[in-house]
Amino acid sequence: MTNKDWECVACTIDRKPDYPDLFDTIIIGAGPAGMTAAIYAARRKMKILLICGKVGGQMMWSSDIENWTGVGQATGPELTRIFFDHVRKVDNDNTHFDLWVREDERVEHISGSFDENFTIKTNTNKTFRAKTVICTTGKIPRTLNIPGEKTAMQGNGLSFCATCDAPLYKDKKMVIIGGGNSAMDVALQLEKFTDSVTILAYEKKLMGETCMMDKIEKSPKISVEYGIDTKEIMLDKNNKVTGVKVLQSGTEKMFECEGIFEEIGQIPATDFLADFITLNKGKEIPTDRTCNTAVPGFFAGGDCTDQIHKQVIVAAGEGAVCALEAHEFILKH
Ligand SMILES: Cc1cc2nc3c(=O)[nH]c(=O)nc-3n(C[C@H](O)[C@H](O)[C@H](O)COP(=O)(O)OP(=O)(O)OC[C@H]3O[C@@H](n4cnc5c(N)ncnc54)[C@H](O)[C@@H]3O)c2cc1C
Repeated sequence: MTNKDWECVACTIDRKPDYPDLFDTIIIGAGPAGMTAAIYAARRKMKILLICGKVGGQMMWSSDIENWTGVGQATGPELTRIFFDHVRKVDNDNTHFDLWVREDERVEHISGSFDENFTIKTNTNKTFRAKTVICTTGKIPRTLNIPGEKTAMQGNGLSFCATCDAPLYKDKKMVIIGGGNSAMDVALQLEKFTDSVTILAYEKKLMGETCMMDKIEKSPKISVEYGIDTKEIMLDKNNKVTGVKVLQSGTEKMFECEGIFEEIGQIPATDFLADFITLNKGKEIPTDRTCNTAVPGFFAGGDCTDQIHKQVIVAAGEGAVCALEAHEFILKH
């Protein structure tokens, strides 16, 4: 993944070797919800471990965020940098705050309870214990699960993040699978790099913001095909993308291309919780208004929960609520 706006931060893993045996809270995820939770929890003098996954979360996929109060307009990577600089400032202030940050690490398993403490295992085989847990794992891209897809996504021409990968496709013939705001956003990003962008929409019309549809309609570089059911991603003998095989109104067709973006929505990143907490049908974590879940001491905020409005500012607000609730919870118990 490359991105001019985002320069990878130095990994802070094990920079502070003196890990406590028991944290007050472990925050899983470093999107707007997780980063805000870390800042709030630190200010309540909690001992915190922030296990980031990929810093920024979905903000890193957005080319334009215009509704973060006080900033007006920023790319997702720019806003991520502002958020994470704040977290790092807290992380570096050893005198006042007890925050440990682990980047590029994922939680794979969680067990326990508030009474016996929670135990978290990560993909680096590390185990951490905490009195409370704040889950802010957000969402990940939905995939089609069709032939060719798994190979194509291993750096062979199938991407999910235009903000990160669009520059890799300079002058290439591109296809975007999807027909909503995300698909249109990607098309408008791609037209800055190439003259040939085709949106393959499942529905008979594009679904989303009218102003984006207007831009798509006016662009000489972007065309839209409707009623598309994508069946297979075609690869050459070197496993590079050569096109997509589809059914369009029942007729088999092939769209040749050198790169594909799949923009068919997101699913909650909650698989690792399957044997820990009951999820709703959409795999979201049920929460109440104060981000409490069915498991005492386990809080959840942002896009991984069943709250309706999936936005940066809502996620950040819920991150703050999670931290304040976790702090209260420890005091009460
Ligand atoms: C293309 C696009 C454009 C958007 N534009 C806007 C916009 O203009 N304005 C707006 O307000 N909102 C926008 N949104 C929505 C906004 O980005 C989300 O609502 C917000 O990022 C949700 O924040 P979150 O912290 O809940 O989750 P996420 O941002 O999804 O972050 C989740 C974090 O958890 C980590 N994680 C996941 N699983 C694990 C694990 N097992 N272990 C450790 N870490 C894990 C991830 O790596 C990530 O760090 C956009 C979304 C997309 C996809």
